[in-house]
Amino acid sequence: MKVGQFVRQHAHLIFDYCRTIDTTELSRLQDPQYSKDTFDINYPFCRPVSEITPDEHTRYYNATHHLHGLQVRMTSQWFSKSLPLMRQYLTNRGISYGESLQPETPSPTAQGRSIRGRHRGNAIGNAQNAFVRHLLSRIGGEQFSAEQWKSVISEFGQRCAYCDAEGDLVMDHVIPINRTALGEHRLGNLVPACRTCNATKAGQDYRAFLGQRDDRITTINAHMARYDYVPIGENEKLGQIIELAHQDVRQLADRYATIIDTLLAEDDSS
Ligand SMILES: [Zn+2]
Repeated sequence: MKVGQFVRQHAHLIFDYCRTIDTTELSRLQDPQYSKDTFDINYPFCRPVSEITPDEHTRYYNATHHLHGLQVRMTSQWFSKSLPLMRQYLTNRGISYGESLQPETPSPTAQGRSIRGRHRGNAIGNAQNAFVRHLLSRIGGEQFSAEQWKSVISEFGQRCAYCDAEGDLVMDHVIPINRTALGEHRLGNLVPACRTCNATKAGQDYRAFLGQRDDRITTINAHMARYDYVPIGENEKLGQIIELAHQDVRQLADRYATIIDTLLAEDDSS
């Protein structure tokens, strides 16, 4: 898939994430350096419509997104090298994008038929995961600024927390945000990582990923303690509640699908 097509298809997921999961992310996405570091693009990921000058108009897609009282447009200046970074960005934040289930150029007939299948399958999975992430993000309700994140990078000597590499560093959730690991998007659960470690670690717990590297585990544990981050993963009851919430979303969808099917069947027969 072409990068422009991909980002336009998935922009709403990122803005939803900014709306509901991490309300501080929107300000970072307007920062040129953060956008460069994260996606390797030369323009901020998005800008408020009011700040886009007439000669910059072609650098932003026309679609506007409303959030936090702002109207923003996403940049159109993407390169193919940004595509894996965009996928990584989504994955790291636990945003499921289900690309594999969306055919690039569906035929008109296949498209009509696949819509319901997709909603029953992947889209509900996305909603379930989004709901779990939303719940996890509300625990504690911590918000942090770009400055605070920079101080975490400094704490790690501007190096990757896992392999000590310098240079291009991204945010990594030490404990992944998903319904089994129950990580949270809080400073204490975030460390700088090089892109290689970030991609290889993926959904693993930092201890599983680091294996015998006890020194690094100790450093990360100290970081968690400094920010008073107590992982909730060992809380069995909370884990059960999150699992229940996850299942409930699917049941809710099934219930409404049945109501709608019944309604449509009545319409057909009348
Ligand atoms: Zn690394």
